[in-house]
Amino acid sequence: GDLTVLVTGGAGYIGSHACKALRRAGFTPVAFDNLCNGHRDAVRFGPFVHGDVRDGMAVQQALRDHGAVAVMHFAAFAYVGESMQKPQLYYDNNVGGMLGLLAGCRGAGVNRVVLSSSCATYGQPAVMPITEATPQQPINPYGQTKLICEHMLRDIGAASDLTHVALRYFNAAGADPDGELTERHDPETHLIPLALLAAAGRRGALGIFGTDYPTPDGTCVRDYIHVSDLARAHVLALRHLLAGRGSVALNLGTGQGTSVRQIVAAVENVTGRRVPVQDLPRRPGDPPILLADPGKAAQVLDFRPDHSDITSMVRHAAPSFGLEVANDQGA
Ligand code: NAD
Ligand code: UDP
Repeated sequence: GDLTVLVTGGAGYIGSHACKALRRAGFTPVAFDNLCNGHRDAVRFGPFVHGDVRDGMAVQQALRDHGAVAVMHFAAFAYVGESMQKPQLYYDNNVGGMLGLLAGCRGAGVNRVVLSSSCATYGQPAVMPITEATPQQPINPYGQTKLICEHMLRDIGAASDLTHVALRYFNAAGADPDGELTERHDPETHLIPLALLAAAGRRGALGIFGTDYPTPDGTCVRDYIHVSDLARAHVLALRHLLAGRGSVALNLGTGQGTSVRQIVAAVENVTGRRVPVQDLPRRPGDPPILLADPGKAAQVLDFRPDHSDITSMVRHAAPSFGLEVANDQGA
């Protein structure tokens, strides 16, 4: 029958999209989630197991019960600002979660892991674009916990048959093009959702964090990648591991930069509504520009994003925030 994959954080934003991509590719995704931030109704493509990744026995049991051959590990806390206020929470959930997961894998004899890592592991590199050889020097506890997870996989892999792919995402954006899954975070902190909420009149003005950066329009530049492209990259990473090709770390981005003001303009174009904005001071810890060099993922996985233009990402995210987008213009 189908190969089964345990997807921790499978009720969350990116994990639920990965479950859909796995199902589409002929795998059975088992979503393993404690629902601290996820949504039960986002689990639609395979079984659901309610559990905490810090509980190694629960992970082991789920792997055994479902005969999983690999794990995709999304379960974590992921707010940079919160990690500065509550670092212990982040070390507990993200590093403790990785330990529990690895204990469960060892117990069940599962030795392939795809990890959600982050461009936050690079900190503020001096040279753009960022390649996988760029030094990883995180500037916040969130990035630090993700780097520790990568190191755990590397060190344990060197002493066992464990292999992994660490996927370092840049800015995830958008939602399922079919509209089956949405983007939902509580509290919402991400730029595109906040701009859509402002366009819908469900918030006050969108604050723009910094207008005096050394960038073309003075606002921060980021590399946005469609969540469904990220999901597809995970399936390719899984196939890489199943084919025995060995451990690797890969950036997932487009290499294209988009400024905060360009996002606002795209939201106005797509929705036909004005986004009220308010210029604010810089947000501490925000690098002016983050851009991926996507070359290695293209070479190793033959992965190229195909939905990651800003218009498509904004169009696909809009329904998550109560905005209907007219027909197909601009898609
Ligand atoms: P999310 O909060 O929507 O999803 C995380 C899921 O993990 C939630 O469903 C939550 O309930 C679950 N979870 C958390 N702790 C758990 C635990 N101890 N046991 C079981 N389940 C637990 O977040 P997301 O945006 O989908 O992020 C998924 C992953 O991708 C995270 O590891 C994050 O660090 C990483 N990441 C996200 C981005 C981004 O732009 N959103 C960028 C880089 C990396
Ligand atoms: N941003 C902003 N106003 C907001 C939220 C975000 O100007 O209300 C900016 C933020 O400074 C960053 C970019 O938008 O340059 C993307 O921020 P987000 O929090 O979505 O992702 P991050 O890059 O922090 O992972």
